[in-house]
Amino acid sequence: MDLSYSTQDLAFKEQVSTWLQENLPADLRDKVIGHRRLSRDDYVRWHRIVAAQGWAGASWPVEHGGPGWTAVQRHIWDEACALAGAPIIMPFGVNMVAPVIMAFGNEAQKRHYLPRILNCDDWWCQGYSEPNAGSDLAALRTKAERDGDHYVVNGQKTWTTWAQHANMIFCLVRTDSGARKQEGISFLLISMDSPGITVRPIIMLDEEHEVNEVFFDNVRVPAENLVGTENQGWTYAKYLLGHERTNIAAVGRSKRELLLLKKLAVNQKKGGKDLLTDPVFASKVASLEIDLMALEVLVQKTIDLQSKRGAPIPEASMLKIKGSEIQLRIGELMLEAVGPYGAPFDPEYLEGTRAHSVSDNDEAAPIAALYLNQRKIAIYGGSNEVQKNVIAKQVLGL
Ligand SMILES: Cc1cc2nc3c(=O)[nH]c(=O)nc-3n(C[C@H](O)[C@H](O)[C@H](O)COP(=O)(O)OP(=O)(O)OC[C@H]3O[C@@H](n4cnc5c(N)ncnc54)[C@H](O)[C@@H]3O)c2cc1C
Repeated sequence: MDLSYSTQDLAFKEQVSTWLQENLPADLRDKVIGHRRLSRDDYVRWHRIVAAQGWAGASWPVEHGGPGWTAVQRHIWDEACALAGAPIIMPFGVNMVAPVIMAFGNEAQKRHYLPRILNCDDWWCQGYSEPNAGSDLAALRTKAERDGDHYVVNGQKTWTTWAQHANMIFCLVRTDSGARKQEGISFLLISMDSPGITVRPIIMLDEEHEVNEVFFDNVRVPAENLVGTENQGWTYAKYLLGHERTNIAAVGRSKRELLLLKKLAVNQKKGGKDLLTDPVFASKVASLEIDLMALEVLVQKTIDLQSKRGAPIPEASMLKIKGSEIQLRIGELMLEAVGPYGAPFDPEYLEGTRAHSVSDNDEAAPIAALYLNQRKIAIYGGSNEVQKNVIAKQVLGL
C-alpha cells in the first residue's frame, strides 16, 4: 500500500485549497477559527456556496448531483475545509438520510428530497436516540400505528441536534411491538411542522442550545413517507450509521486546533518565557502532535481498506476513538495554556452580540466553553466504550 498522494491527488489538493481561499467568507472563517457560535443562516450560506460549485454532496454519485470524487479526494476536501476554517456541511441531510434514500427510497422520494438536500432547502435532524435507547438503540419505543393512508406517531426522541433549526426529521419508529426488537422498526421521514410535534431545548454545559428533546403526540405522517419496507428499518438504520462514521477522525480539524494551541501557548508567559518553550508543556504538545500524525496514517490506511472492500468497515471505530481522544487532549491543553484568562464565561462574545470579550483576551475567551462542549465528542455517533465493543467483536473476533 502506497500512502503518499498521487500527482493527480496533489493537483486536486491545490485546486480545492485555492477555491477555499477565494470563496470562504472571512466572517465565517473567523467565527469558526475563533470558536464563536454560528447561526443557522451561517451554515446555510456556506452550504449554498459549496452547492453552487457542485461539491455539497462530496460523497454522492454523479447521477444524483455529486462530483464523483474518489475516497482519497473526499478526504483531501474534508481536510482542506477543516484546515481553512470552513463551517461544517451539516451531516444529517447530505451524509445520513441521503444515502438511505438513494439506497432504499422510491423514485418519488429520490426526486423530491435529494435536490432539496443538496441545496440545503431542507434542514434535517436525526431522530434515533430516546430516553433508555441510546447505545441500545433497538430498545426504542416511539410508536407508529397505521391509520388508513397515514401513520400516527407517539413517543419521544432525545439529544436531537439542531432540531430547533430543522424542518424535517428522519425517525426510527416501532411499527410492530410483537416482533423481536430489531425486527419491528421502520424508517419514517417526518415534517417538523406537523401538528403534535414539540421541541424542547436541552442546554449544554457551555450554555449552548445545540440539542433537544422532540415529543410526538398523535402526529399524522403520510404513509408515502415510509422509506423502503415496513419493519425493515433496522437494516436502513445500520446502513446510515456506517455513513455517519465518515470523517469521524477529524484530522483536519485537529491540525487546525493544534495550530491554535501553539499560538495560545506562545502568547502565554511562564517565568518570563513563552509557555511553548517550557519543557513539560512542550513535551505534551509534541506527544499530541505525534499521535495526530499516527492517526493521519491510520485514516489513510482505513480509506484504502474501505475502497478495496467497497463498504464501511468496523476498523473505522478505531478512528472514532483515537480522533475523539486527540480532540479532547487538545482542548485540555488549550485550557491549561490560557489558565485564568479562559475562566470568564462570556456568552455575548460567543454569540457575536459584543465585538470583544469582557476579559479583553478574545483568543482565550471561548476556550472554557469549548472544553465543556467537547465532553460530547466521546459520546455522540456511538460512545467510545461501544466502539471498543465493535473492535473487540468485529475486528479482533473476541
Ligand atoms: C451532543 C450530542 C448530540 C447528539 N445528537 C444526536 C442526534 O442528533 N440524534 C440522535 O438520535 N442521537 C443523538 N445523540 C445521542 C447519542 O447517539 C447517544 O447519546 C449515544 O448513543 C449514547 O447513548 P446514551 O446517551 O443513551 O447513553 P447510554 O447508552 O445510556 O450509555 C451510558 C454509558 O454506558 C456506556 N455503555 C452503554 N452500553 C455499553 C456497552 N454495551 N458496553 C460498554 N459500555 C456501555 C456508554 O459508553 C456510556 O458511557 C447525541 C448525543 C450527544 C451527547
